[in-house]
Amino acid sequence: MNNDTICALATANGVGALGIIRVSGNDALSVVQKSFPGKKLAKQKSHTIHYGYFMDGEETIDEVMLSIFLAPKSFTTENSVEIAFHGSPHIGKRILETLTKNGARMAKAGEFTLRAFINGRIDLSQAEAIADVIASENEASRKVAISQLKGGITNEISLLRTDLLNFVSLIELELDFAEEDVEFADRTALTQLLSKIEIKLHSLIESFQYGNAIKNGTAVAIIGKPNAGKSTLLNALLKEERAIVSNIAGTTRDTIEEILHIKGHAFRLIDTAGLRETADEIEAIGVKKAKEKVENANILVYLTDAGTKDFSEDIEMIKSLLRDDLKLIICATKIDEVMPHQYEKVEDVFRNEITQEFDFITISAVENQNIQDLKNELSSYVEQLKASENNVVITNQRHFEALQKSLNAVHKVNEAITFQISTELLAYELRNALEHLGEISGEVTNDEVLGNIFSKFCIGK
Ligand code: GDP
Repeated sequence: MNNDTICALATANGVGALGIIRVSGNDALSVVQKSFPGKKLAKQKSHTIHYGYFMDGEETIDEVMLSIFLAPKSFTTENSVEIAFHGSPHIGKRILETLTKNGARMAKAGEFTLRAFINGRIDLSQAEAIADVIASENEASRKVAISQLKGGITNEISLLRTDLLNFVSLIELELDFAEEDVEFADRTALTQLLSKIEIKLHSLIESFQYGNAIKNGTAVAIIGKPNAGKSTLLNALLKEERAIVSNIAGTTRDTIEEILHIKGHAFRLIDTAGLRETADEIEAIGVKKAKEKVENANILVYLTDAGTKDFSEDIEMIKSLLRDDLKLIICATKIDEVMPHQYEKVEDVFRNEITQEFDFITISAVENQNIQDLKNELSSYVEQLKASENNVVITNQRHFEALQKSLNAVHKVNEAITFQISTELLAYELRNALEHLGEISGEVTNDEVLGNIFSKFCIGK
């Protein structure tokens, strides 16, 4: 492993009370020492803080505090120094320039964490969790990322993997004694272990739906005829929210999404651009456009005016949009304008025509009636996903794919046993399963995967 000394700004690039620069590598102390004449750094104990001036030759750059972490008790397990300076981006730049003059080089994205992984301080899923902790925007995503950081998924997987590994050893031993036709590995016990692994893998894979909702938010499409009250509802939903409008990159037209937080979970209101415009534009929302919006949604909130006489167009539209994995909430709105006996009948009209399960809510967006019920319905979607959750939640696409591959491999092992296929093939399938399980923690990995993971980190992490 290359332990050359790297440096980077660890705090955000902007003005702050303080900024922190990290230095890590074999020569971390001597590189910093060249600019910190006040004390002999090599003589200092680990985990100590030192006050002094950071110099570029004769010139004082800033008054700083150094924190020293000696190998192996540092984030990277290498000698490391953190330099806290007055948070001016210019000072940060001068310090980094000086450090590179002193012999350090600028770190690449994620390089500190990569070193922590390569030096065995954390496994791959923990490294990924660090990126997730940094990116977490709400309570739910923070909690899941922290549990992952503490080793969540790896602990679950590595126990199973160790058991499986024992079997692989026994089966391979059988191969060594092939001519004697002996069975060291108890097939019944192996089958039992495999079904235990299958159950675990299933539940981890299932938790991804919840994990995804936590990490990326739940996508909600609000659809309805012109004047149904969509933009009024949107405003009512976002009333207490500081609306966050984001342009999602990678889409051909700019999609505006606004984010609503309910009970610590994020809901992305898909393509609200049209809703934010005034309702003057009485251009009917075509089925094609509605389909596009609903395509990526988890929940469809279909809005209709409770005072409508004939709901057949609405029903037709809903039918054309429905999918098995789409939660449907039908909202009859403007109930402040119609009598209860009238809007109370609306639900039956829809129930008679739509066979798929749906929730029905009557609201008034103008008078803020039952908006909370709608929020509760949205929230219950996520809660329900959580209900099938085990303690560990998968939030990472890479883990999800590795788990699926592991499960396929386990199925193949099972088949191999059932059909009493040759021991060679059984051993091959078992090794395959082990390999996919090992991909998650990084026990089995390749440079391309690593490059892909760490390049997504910020510099300085
Ligand atoms: P959109 O075309 O679906 O976005 O509909 P808008 O939200 O622009 O609403 C159309 C009209 O219905 C506007 O004049 C709103 O003020 C009115 N409206 C919307 N929701 C309600 C409601 O709950 N009660 C009443 N009385 N009027 C509403």
